[in-house]
Amino acid sequence: MSKGSETITPETPTFPTRYWHKLEDGRVQCDLCPRYCKLRDGQRGLCFVRANRSDEIVLTSYGRSSGFCIDPIEKKPLNHFLPGTPVLSFGTAGCNLACKFCQNWDMSKSREMDTLMDQASPEKIARVAREMGCRSVAYTYNDPVIFMEYAIDIARACRAQGIKSVAVTAGYICDEPRREFFSYMDAANVDLKAFSDEFYLKLCGGQLDPVLETLKYLRHETDVWTEITTLLIPGENDSESELEAMSRWVVDNLGADTPWHFSAFHPDWKMMDHPPTPPVTLSRAREIAMSAGLHHVYTGNVHDERGGSTYCHRCGKRLIGRDWYVLTEWNLTADGRCCDCNSPCVGVFEKHPGEWGAKRLPINMELHP
Ligand code: SF4
Repeated sequence: MSKGSETITPETPTFPTRYWHKLEDGRVQCDLCPRYCKLRDGQRGLCFVRANRSDEIVLTSYGRSSGFCIDPIEKKPLNHFLPGTPVLSFGTAGCNLACKFCQNWDMSKSREMDTLMDQASPEKIARVAREMGCRSVAYTYNDPVIFMEYAIDIARACRAQGIKSVAVTAGYICDEPRREFFSYMDAANVDLKAFSDEFYLKLCGGQLDPVLETLKYLRHETDVWTEITTLLIPGENDSESELEAMSRWVVDNLGADTPWHFSAFHPDWKMMDHPPTPPVTLSRAREIAMSAGLHHVYTGNVHDERGGSTYCHRCGKRLIGRDWYVLTEWNLTADGRCCDCNSPCVGVFEKHPGEWGAKRLPINMELHP
C-alpha cells in the first residue's frame, strides 16, 4: 500500500526483524502492520524506524529511547491493573499511524534520531525498574508495535525480574506479529480512536478493522489485561450515534466488564483549529457507554472525581476513589471484591493498593550504572 520516502545511511544502526518478504520487482514488503510498506534498499517505512537494508527489513531504534520516567499506572491509563503502583515508562521515535491530532507528536513524528538520547539494554531497564520499586514497565509515548523486537527483549528481561509489561498502543498490527508481541505483555491500553473507517482514513491514515481485530484477539485469546481509551475530538468522533454504536460493539464483542477511558483532546499538531473537549462531552460519553451496559467507564484529562473512580457494578459502592492520579479510597477485599456486597471487581489487584500517588519522576539512565 505505502512506500517509504526517507533513507538510512551506512552509519544507521540496525537490528534484524522477521515480518517481511521480498517482492518480484526487487522491493521488500514489511508485513508488521497493515500499511505493508514496499521499500527499496535504503528506504525507511512510514513509521520511520523500520527500513530496508540490503533487502531485509531492519529496526533502526533498537536499544535507544527518547527518555525514561516513572509515572502512576493510572496515567497510562490503566485503572484496574495494580492500582497506585509506579510504572517505568519510555518511548522511542516514529509511529505507524499519522494522527493529525497526535498528543505526543514530538516523539511519534520525530525524524531526528537525536531525540533518542538515552541508551539502555533490556537487562538494564528491568534492573532499574526493580531498583526503583516499579511493578511494571510501559512501552508508551509512541506505538511499541513498531519497535517490537526491543520491547519483547525488555519484556523478557522484566519477566525474569518479576516486573510486568504494559503496552500502550493503537493496536494497528497484523495477525502474526500481534500474536508474538502480546504474548510478552501483561496489560494493554488500546486506543479505539473512533468507530468509522472515514475517521481512521482521514485523520490517522489507517483503517478501523485491524484495531477491532486486536481488541477481540486480546479479549478472547489472551490473558493480557486490556483497557480502552478514546480521545474525544469535538465534531469528529463525539456524536451520540457514533458513541452508541461504539458502545454496543464493545459490549457485544469485548464484554460489559471492559474498562473504557474517554479522554479530553487539546489542540495539537495538525489540529490546532479544533477546540479542547468540554468536560460535559466526556460525561455524556460516559453516560452513553454505561447506558449501553458497560460497568467501568472513566473520564480522563479532566478533574472529575466521580468519572475517575471505580464503582461496584452490582451495588454502586465506590471501590477505588481517585482524585486525578491519587487514590483517595480503597474498598476492595484482599481478593478484589466489593467490601459491601462481595461482588468481584474485574482487574489485577493485590491485597493492598500501591502508594505512588501522582508523582512523575524522570530517570537518567546514565546515573544507573
Ligand atoms: S511497521 Fe513501519 S515499515 Fe512496517 S508496514 Fe508498518 S509503517 Fe511500514
